[in-house]
Amino acid sequence: MAVFLRRGLLLAFHRTLGQGSNTAYPSVLPAAVLGACRSKKTWPVSFPQEELRKRLTPKQFHVTQERGTESAFTGEFTYHKDEGTYHCVVCGAPLFSSDSKFDSGSGWPSFFDLLKEESVSLADDFSYGLHRVETTCSQCGAHLGHLFDDGPKPTGKRYCINSASLAFQAAGPDEGRASASSGAATSGKGDL
Ligand SMILES: [Zn+2]
Repeated sequence: MAVFLRRGLLLAFHRTLGQGSNTAYPSVLPAAVLGACRSKKTWPVSFPQEELRKRLTPKQFHVTQERGTESAFTGEFTYHKDEGTYHCVVCGAPLFSSDSKFDSGSGWPSFFDLLKEESVSLADDFSYGLHRVETTCSQCGAHLGHLFDDGPKPTGKRYCINSASLAFQAAGPDEGRASASSGAATSGKGDL
């Protein structure tokens, strides 16, 4: 009975919303509100801006916190080829593996895949009169770069990422072996 009642109220609420507006406005509004919230304080991890200004370089701060873009071919990881993991420079979350890095010729570090699907959040970016897909760290909301659909196989994706958003962790002797064996799927670890 209580459930039925609540549902009835909810329906009435939706009906009210529908009646109160006669254009496409209500379907636009929730997305706009969501977008505004996401860019602020809904990330699982947040840091005081003062702390970040001290801890990050001016370029790292500008790119990650002010959605900046480093100049092409100037980032420290553009031609970086060591084996290891690329982490978010702000919160340390692992984002990309060197296994998925490729030379796109764009002047920015490029990856065709993520370490984990949920580690990066996507959002529409209409700045500069373009429609692009912005990539953001799912943990702390740091701006990373953009995602394009002209990457190599198997994903066809190109994560075009600022070096300034990344911190590199070289694969240790053990890690190197572990990733090699998982790649070859020789043991039970291959499932990972
Ligand atoms: Zn982060």
